[in-house]
Amino acid sequence: MIIDLRKLSTGSRSLKFELDEDWWNSVGEQDLILGIDTPVQVHIDIYPAGDKYVLDGALSGRIQVLCDRCLESYHRELKTSFRVFLSLPLPQTQEDDMELAEEDLDVDFIRGDEIDLDGIIHEQIYLTIPMKSLCSEDCLGLCPKCGANLNTTDCQCDKEQGHPAFLKLKNLKIEGD
Ligand SMILES: [Zn+2]
Ligand SMILES: [Zn+2]
Repeated sequence: MIIDLRKLSTGSRSLKFELDEDWWNSVGEQDLILGIDTPVQVHIDIYPAGDKYVLDGALSGRIQVLCDRCLESYHRELKTSFRVFLSLPLPQTQEDDMELAEEDLDVDFIRGDEIDLDGIIHEQIYLTIPMKSLCSEDCLGLCPKCGANLNTTDCQCDKEQGHPAFLKLKNLKIEGD
């Protein structure tokens, strides 16, 4: 969705809409996040503040994410609110006068007089994913020997070889001989 800033000059604008399943694909990137569960609710207020715009947003719904440990997809609660400051890109000649404080502003999402709302929402969804994204706190992960998902499979490796940490030591010894 594209927001025309020229129509905002008179005041604020409040948007409420839902993202449908196809939305995630339409943005392109697909790595850690596999998709969204419908519907994802979006609520956004945009209003001018001096020579800038403030965008207050809230997202709620669920997304499909890959577990870092077992590599299976799982559904994750999406609930976030955010504030983004937007400033119109300055003409090239004024670039030298730019203050360092401008670094905080998301100028990336403005093209001409338009805000790339999809880009902003996309980034905010990414920001909700923690460094370690797990399907469950006690996800057992994959067997380091056979690659089986230990949450769903009871492979025989452990019983034959002992603890994976010791298995590693044992392998090292064999390689050294
Ligand atoms: Zn997992
Ligand atoms: Zn195994």
